Amino acid sequence: MADRKRKKKLPSKLTFDEIGGQEHPKEELMEALDFLIRHEEIQKFGIRPLKGILLTGPPGTGKTLLAKAASQYTDSVFTAVAGSEFVEMYVGVGAGRVRDLFRDARTRATKEKKKSAVIFIDEIDVIGGKREGGQQREYDQTLNQLLTEMDGIYDNESPRILIIAATNRKEMLDSALLRPGRFDRHIQVDLPDKKGRKHILGIHAKNKPIHIDTNLDKIAEESYGFSGAQLESVMNEAAIYMMRENKSEIEQQHLSMAIDKVMMGEKTDRDSTQ
Ligand code: ATP
Repeated sequence: MADRKRKKKLPSKLTFDEIGGQEHPKEELMEALDFLIRHEEIQKFGIRPLKGILLTGPPGTGKTLLAKAASQYTDSVFTAVAGSEFVEMYVGVGAGRVRDLFRDARTRATKEKKKSAVIFIDEIDVIGGKREGGQQREYDQTLNQLLTEMDGIYDNESPRILIIAATNRKEMLDSALLRPGRFDRHIQVDLPDKKGRKHILGIHAKNKPIHIDTNLDKIAEESYGFSGAQLESVMNEAAIYMMRENKSEIEQQHLSMAIDKVMMGEKTDRDSTQ
């Protein structure tokens, strides 16, 4: 969990082409984003504006990358936050932060002369969990403020605001968040299949010296069940093995060893939390 709270470093520009696999989520997302881009046309037809998109799926599958690419695709300013950043001991602080988040996104978009702003909220379940009454006043106020902000996004508002949220636990979300006009578009981002894994490995191999005989197909096969984040680690670890052996190119065995290392690392992490 502590790992997930760490701020992610994202490239300043990122397009959908730089995200491996995930063809279906990419298509669905682009289709939804076209509604934001063509919003004047959509208004003419009386279609409800798109306010929120929910990305669901296991950790490390590229949800943050998709949100970032969405901002590039729509030429928007991008702000990323995690649900845990809104959790405070004092009642009202979280709600205030939500207010500031929307205000700052609007201000930035106006300053940078952009027509829209994308706000990405990772771990939305932390603030958007089911309200069960009684003891959760702080969480309730934060969630209520988020709902208020979403309801305050208007068709003809400029800059336009789009909220993309991510969670691994959709079933935990309060139903108020999933109502029409809020997060009513859900896109499932699953672990990549073999083709997707090869694509992701290829993306992360781009800035590394890879031996010509290396068979990424085989590595994609051996890394069954790996997320994009784990595949990025595989490439990184393989480069470390290469350096340890004083070689100048990554070879097949470095990648196979890296797969074992990443798999073992995950196992050790899990064991230590049990
Ligand atoms: P979490 O649920 O833990 O927040 P996430 O789904 O948002 O994870 P990302 O933060 O987008 O995952 O991915 C983490 C890192 O893993 C990325 O910075 C990238 O290096 C790598 N990665 C994940 N998925 C992909 C992908 N589809 N293509 C290329 N790289 C990927």
